[in-house]
Amino acid sequence: MECCEKKYMENCMVCGKPLIYLEKPVLKKCEYCGIEELTRAHCMDGHYVCDSCHAKDGIEVIKEYCLNTKSRDPMEIVENIMADSRIPMHGPEHHALVPAAIVTAYKNLTGKASDDDIIETINRGKEVPGGVCGYYGACGAGVGVGVAISVIYKATPYTPLKRSKAHLAVANALKRIGEAGGARCCKKCTRISIEEAVKFFEMEFDIRFPKGFKRENKCNYSKINRECYIGCKYRNKKGM
Ligand SMILES: [Zn+2]
Ligand SMILES: [Zn+2]
Repeated sequence: MECCEKKYMENCMVCGKPLIYLEKPVLKKCEYCGIEELTRAHCMDGHYVCDSCHAKDGIEVIKEYCLNTKSRDPMEIVENIMADSRIPMHGPEHHALVPAAIVTAYKNLTGKASDDDIIETINRGKEVPGGVCGYYGACGAGVGVGVAISVIYKATPYTPLKRSKAHLAVANALKRIGEAGGARCCKKCTRISIEEAVKFFEMEFDIRFPKGFKRENKCNYSKINRECYIGCKYRNKKGM
């Protein structure tokens, strides 16, 4: 369906209204590509946008940025990409963003990863479905840290040590995301995942990513995130 010229970057991409998350899936048709599939999320007016259509523009932004930047700082990379107007407030784009930023920074810092590794990372990350945090108990941004380690160190289900390291890194990220509390916030979980990844790479692999990145505001998303909560460490205290 080519109806939807304006894409909303918060809530429903078609109409901007809040999403409803269901306990049991229902069959819905994607407003953009027409694919019919089971989903646990649609908007109040019944619009459904599949993960692939939701993330399409965002994935292109991530690819273009990561293949061209010289930054060695994964936090700087995620913040700059999230600030792009084509990246929605929430969505599975963030599942590709976290590992892509880590592998990109690693490539620029060490010279030991390639553009193909970045693409592979994005392809794996974008397969982690939207809503996985609430429905599977593992935030996709946190899982992204494991994607990055698996790609960099060429882990497979047959490589005991590398596979273990990927799990441990994800566990650190997920533990902090769980402890941080609050409902979904893809920005918060992306930031926490990067912070934990930076610590893990230093401790386990002696890889030291730069840590000096400063946000101008603590968070530019508090205002547009309906689920933003007082306890979030990134939240702006004044004026949201
Ligand atoms: Zn809608
Ligand atoms: Zn679609």
